[in-house]
Amino acid sequence: MAAPGIDLHLHTTASDGVVSPSRLVALAADAGLGVISVTDHDTVAGLDEARDAARQHGLRLIDGIEITAVEAGRDVHVLGYFFDPVDERFAAFLAEQRRARIARVRQIGDRLEALKCAVDVSAILESAQRSPGRSVGRPAVADALVAAGHAVDRRDAFDRFLAAGGPAFVERCGPGVAEVIAVVAAAGGITSLAHPGLTRVDDDLARFAGSGLNALEVRHRDHSPATEARYRDVAAALGLAVSAGSDFHSVGERANLGDISLEAGELERLEELARRRRSSTAGTGTA
Ligand code: AMP
Ligand code: ZN
Ligand code: FE
Ligand code: FE
Repeated sequence: MAAPGIDLHLHTTASDGVVSPSRLVALAADAGLGVISVTDHDTVAGLDEARDAARQHGLRLIDGIEITAVEAGRDVHVLGYFFDPVDERFAAFLAEQRRARIARVRQIGDRLEALKCAVDVSAILESAQRSPGRSVGRPAVADALVAAGHAVDRRDAFDRFLAAGGPAFVERCGPGVAEVIAVVAAAGGITSLAHPGLTRVDDDLARFAGSGLNALEVRHRDHSPATEARYRDVAAALGLAVSAGSDFHSVGERANLGDISLEAGELERLEELARRRRSSTAGTGTA
């Protein structure tokens, strides 16, 4: 029998995934995964439910997150692992990230109205107000565009309105990669640059490594074998570890749960980096 898989990039309804944390864990168990990380965008709100479900299913859950940083007006996704999920400064940082997301959804709503493709973003804003731990973003606006008949699916909504350069695109303001790395490190965690093959910030990777980035997500559902091999080489050249994840958002996607896995030895390296981080942050106090 194959060893249980390790998938360190999964989304739930705490951000823009369509399954709840407990349902995700059940699906992961069915798919033969043994170690998972729930990495919702700018929130840890799904982790408690996922941890309880993981215990029931005999899976190991690694606390995770995917934080949006901004470099030269472009979004750069930074994965965080092994941090203290109740660290107060980390929580305050994430609350500010989510506040900026709400403001952005409101601005996108205004753009769509000016384009005569109005959607009701008030429902999104109200749900964000009701559950401030959950994060909202463009996928929710995409769903509203579909519901209003302006797009056929999320991808179509991104292609025609919401993607960078699209008519309803609103540039994000926020911290850069170095600041995000530092915030995660201060909470005792380590960082991996998400899907570098999609983000395409190759010229900046050495700088990020110099800022304390720990790993590159070399294996991802949207990376071809050639892309994975290229970033493995880059990681080795920069002395970075590697991570892997499906970036699962919903059932029926191109890659199924269980298709993407990290090697056990690669996870051990990440754990060793996290141990070193914690022993270096221990005793620095939280005042
Ligand atoms: P946001 O968090 O508001 O920046 O939205 C980014 C999220 O939208 C990503 O994490 C993806 O889940 C989703 N996304 C980005 N581009 C596309 C696309 N072309 N089609 C469908 N979903 C997308
Ligand atoms: Zn997403
Ligand atoms: Fe991402
Ligand atoms: Fe993701």
